[in-house]
Amino acid sequence: MRTRLLLLTPALAATALGLVLACAGGPQPAGDGQAHVQPPITGIDLAAIDPGAKPCEDFYAFACGGWIANHEIPPDKARWGMFDQLGERNLGLLRELLEEAAAGKSAPEDVFGQKVGDFYAACMDEAGIERSGLAELQAEWAKLEAVQDPASLAAAVGRIQRSGVGVLFNFGAMQDFEDSRRMIAGVFQGGLSLPDRDYYLKDDPKNAQIRKSYLAYLEAMLGLAGVPQARASEEARAVFELERAMAESHWSRTEMRDPQKIFHPLDRAGLEGQTPGFDWPSYFQAVGAVPPERFNASTPQALARLAELLGKTPPETWRAYLRWHVLRGLVRSRALPRAFVDRAFAFSSENFTGAKELEPRWKHCADLSDSLLGEAVGQAFVRRHFAGDAKDKALALIRGVQRAQGENLKSLPWMDAATRTKASEKLAAIDNKIGYPDTWRDYSALEITRSSLLRSLLAAMAFETQRDLDKIGKPVDRREWFMSAPTVNAYYSAQLNEMVFPAGILQPMFYTPGANDAVNHGAIGFVMGHELTHGFDDEGRKFDAQGNLAEWWSPSVAQEFEQRAACIERQYGEYVVVDDLRLNGKLTLGENIADLGGLELALAAYRASRAGLPPEPAVGGYTPEQQFFLAAGQVWCARTRPEEARNRVVTDPHSSPRWRVNGPLSNMPDFAAAFGCQAGDAMVRAERCEVW
Ligand SMILES: [Zn+2]
Repeated sequence: MRTRLLLLTPALAATALGLVLACAGGPQPAGDGQAHVQPPITGIDLAAIDPGAKPCEDFYAFACGGWIANHEIPPDKARWGMFDQLGERNLGLLRELLEEAAAGKSAPEDVFGQKVGDFYAACMDEAGIERSGLAELQAEWAKLEAVQDPASLAAAVGRIQRSGVGVLFNFGAMQDFEDSRRMIAGVFQGGLSLPDRDYYLKDDPKNAQIRKSYLAYLEAMLGLAGVPQARASEEARAVFELERAMAESHWSRTEMRDPQKIFHPLDRAGLEGQTPGFDWPSYFQAVGAVPPERFNASTPQALARLAELLGKTPPETWRAYLRWHVLRGLVRSRALPRAFVDRAFAFSSENFTGAKELEPRWKHCADLSDSLLGEAVGQAFVRRHFAGDAKDKALALIRGVQRAQGENLKSLPWMDAATRTKASEKLAAIDNKIGYPDTWRDYSALEITRSSLLRSLLAAMAFETQRDLDKIGKPVDRREWFMSAPTVNAYYSAQLNEMVFPAGILQPMFYTPGANDAVNHGAIGFVMGHELTHGFDDEGRKFDAQGNLAEWWSPSVAQEFEQRAACIERQYGEYVVVDDLRLNGKLTLGENIADLGGLELALAAYRASRAGLPPEPAVGGYTPEQQFFLAAGQVWCARTRPEEARNRVVTDPHSSPRWRVNGPLSNMPDFAAAFGCQAGDAMVRAERCEVW
């Protein structure tokens, strides 16, 4: 279900995809001043190490202290790390391809090269966007002015959702939790502007300040759109109150991680019964869905609140709310004049990112092209930047990690025979996708207008929405990818029981050809072990080998698991991220289990791969197993602005970089042995947690 949200509301993707490990490091700069000397390919950045830090006291400071001391966060970034460097490198490579396409010079085999080029050119045409102002929005404004009854409201909601903006709720195709082979419709809580319900509800000075800032922002944006001052002020207040009323009914991100809690199958009459006052037929027609037969009304209390709000909110408030969300969606894509974009940047910078400058236009446009036309531009990317044998090498590494989990399952003392058999079946059934899709998406039906970003954007969003909605009621398509090939990331889908590693992450220093196996196991092997462990984390374990939500655990073994998970929850709940703000041990539980399990599996796979072979050479005086841990730690070398760090504690299911390293390693006796750490050292926890 998590992958489902990716296309529906792109802005949600990063956080909605709890599946995602995310990652690190670009290639290291070649030796300075030694032009013709080829440094050995090590995959370890020796300059990133702080030799003054003690690995047994704070391994993150040891592995990354040098890097952190020598890198500033670029002004357009909220966070900067080795992982972001690789993302930035891939974005630069995409830019070359996009500029060629925009100049009509894409390769003949790129059948959608012209569309990609036109889209990028439209996005880059800042002067054109400035000139047209809001002229192209007038027709939409006129339609919104006509919203006055349930039918016209539902039609407007459908139309706006079709353009990728999740007003009122989120709607789209999802795999049935009870039968993973078929697609049904999912209805989820949504429709807020701030990144989490907590921002509306939490009663403390920081959040009160954010709400004040949001109200001023809302008012300013409505004003820029031509709403007279007094009315803008009134509308901003009304929109805010409406969103706050929705937020009150929303479940927390932690609650949304519980698959049993968010599965409420219904037929159409059942859905209509839950939402009196909402005109579903008008909505389905406008959003472009054949009225579905089966739904997951995932968050019933949010639907109940919606019904209540439909009964008492005046049409002018709905109109203001919808107008605001149209602006919000467009400004996020930078399809509005600069005054809007600057105001939006000021708001997000002040409250959520801390970035000092707006991202250069080309970066934004390369990113937008990738997120909307990723399978068109991705073809050229993999041809040019994905080595032919990388797929086989990645597959060999994955198999090693899978074998390690097979061995691990055999010997886990807290498993019983029945659960062990089921777990082994699930492991054996995991599917792997590596690099890029076997069949690429067909964009023939999509019309891109080079002279208008706004029109192109709406067309591309509508194309994606339609593609998603067309899946409802059909068998699942197991060939589909939920990340583009250039993405520096990976995911595990519990319902497809598959792991996916795009070409974008199979690059140095995640995968460094020629580096020691120790290093590649510590970096990409860790990612693979992490994704694999998601199949067995507190959420993934609830799905069986076929991807159905089913209880396959003996009650006593499930209890053993929960006890071990509770240890991890306690451990991370103590970690301070910024000021006095601690990690949410429940929200980050699945990722933390995956980090610890992933490292253990990758290390076991490394040892098995070297059985009977001579030890690999030292690098910078570090033994192979020390290299393994250095590679794993350096994946996370990063600096984060405090605003961004605070927002991530609320919204991100992943722990912050320091704790993604020190958290798992302080539970690993193999780490302590590699660096000679003793009981009593900070990197050796007195209460050792271990799940897998
Ligand atoms: Zn993950």
